[in-house]
Amino acid sequence: MMQEEYRRQEAQLDDLYRDIIIDHYRHPRHKGHLASPDATHEGLNPLCGDEVTVEVKVEGDRLADIAYSGSGCSISQSSASMMTEAVEGKSIEETRKLIGDFTAMMRGGEIDSEELGDLEALSGVRQFPVRIKCATLAWHTLDEALKDAVA
Ligand code: ZN
Repeated sequence: MMQEEYRRQEAQLDDLYRDIIIDHYRHPRHKGHLASPDATHEGLNPLCGDEVTVEVKVEGDRLADIAYSGSGCSISQSSASMMTEAVEGKSIEETRKLIGDFTAMMRGGEIDSEELGDLEALSGVRQFPVRIKCATLAWHTLDEALKDAVA
């Protein structure tokens, strides 16, 4: 059973990392919808059945507001929650840099833990290569939404 295997993987995560992921999964930040988003993009991870929709509001060169909705495993949804918290209010340039840094970390790159904050918790997922797509789904979806919003 894939779901049992996934739960077993999550149980193997470092306690601190797991606590942060579960906290965002149970108490999601910025989950819902924006009144008038500039762009909305839907991302799918068929491997795990994760869905994340990201809505963005851009003012000038700043990501003024962001919301996400979706369903799926705790890693995909908590990553979306952490992402919205990390990028809200940042400039588009800073947001794109963070997307690059986060996806590089998930591919095994060096971690600047000060910049990534809670996001570092997701680095524990790297030990399960099949789950990396769960963690990066929201980020690729945000990247696509920004392309539409800033076009
Ligand atoms: Zn997943």
